[in-house]
Amino acid sequence: MKTAYIKAPFQVQFREVPLRELKDNELLVRVELCGICGSDIHSARSQAVDWETFGHEVVGVVERIGRSVGNVKVGDRVVLESSTFCRTCDDCRNGDVYLCKDGPNNFFTSEPGGFSEYFIAAMEQAIPLDPAINPKHAALVEPMGVAMDLFKVADIHLNDDVLVIGLGAIGLMALRMAKLAGARNLYAADIEAAGQRFEVAKAYGATELIRSDRVSLEEYPFPRGGVDRVLVTAPPWLIPTALKTLRFGGIAAYLGFGYGPRKDITIDANEFHLRRLQLRASYAAPALFFPRCLDLIRSGMIDCEPLITDVRPMDQLEAAIRNQAENIGGCIKTLMYNPCGKALIE
Ligand SMILES: [Zn+2]
Ligand SMILES: [Zn+2]
Repeated sequence: MKTAYIKAPFQVQFREVPLRELKDNELLVRVELCGICGSDIHSARSQAVDWETFGHEVVGVVERIGRSVGNVKVGDRVVLESSTFCRTCDDCRNGDVYLCKDGPNNFFTSEPGGFSEYFIAAMEQAIPLDPAINPKHAALVEPMGVAMDLFKVADIHLNDDVLVIGLGAIGLMALRMAKLAGARNLYAADIEAAGQRFEVAKAYGATELIRSDRVSLEEYPFPRGGVDRVLVTAPPWLIPTALKTLRFGGIAAYLGFGYGPRKDITIDANEFHLRRLQLRASYAAPALFFPRCLDLIRSGMIDCEPLITDVRPMDQLEAAIRNQAENIGGCIKTLMYNPCGKALIE
């Protein structure tokens, strides 16, 4: 079968590889759709120093199952969690499955990724897709789970003022969740070039749009002297800025990547202490909350349609990744489809 490899800067190669035998607890999925993730863009830009497999936002149809698979059957359309928990380590047994580092994981593996004709997943990662849900929208459930983790970590309460910095698909979905949770003033911040992303933020309920390269976030006249919560999906150097936007006792929730010296930050620890600020990390591996996110899609509480800005056949993967990286104002989420998934996007 064909599978894609990536290497920085922005090179993609499709290679013919053998399909290995399934283990008893695994299933073979014929990939219909696979989304391009922000982390794939990081790989393309600089992180894939050698050729590596990639793609983890998968919708497809179960083609074959191992002997002990009972939760899905051949012919089911499924979405796949990008990683899950093991059920047997101390953290899992203590009920802290979100801390598990031992479960099946699609990120740190040399096996073919989601940009392939077929994908082998552990049965625990597979969730049958309700036919009432548009599969194109379901392809966004993995990043929505990431947004849900960020949202939960931020612990937003009714009537909180909330600022979201970074309006990628994850930031926008987290912003929508903040709105649904009862945010009062809801601020959406990104650079001017983010273009269309501001439109989606507005449609999702943002009350003010902030062009952070035009207006200083640190000096922004937030009516309560700062926001109660700030959600950051941006590089680490924005963390000190995010902390300065908080009012007394505020919480900053963060996810993002930085490389080299730019991954280090400096903050005023006295201010951090005396203003009782909190900085919390969100990290959505194991991937959780899929049923809840699928229901947000099914109920229409989160409309994924405006996020899907580019849909292309799999063989255009390299061009699609470049477009996703370069056209930040016009491209939010790209979905790639195999010939077998073409009908789903029409
Ligand atoms: Zn992802
Ligand atoms: Zn575990």
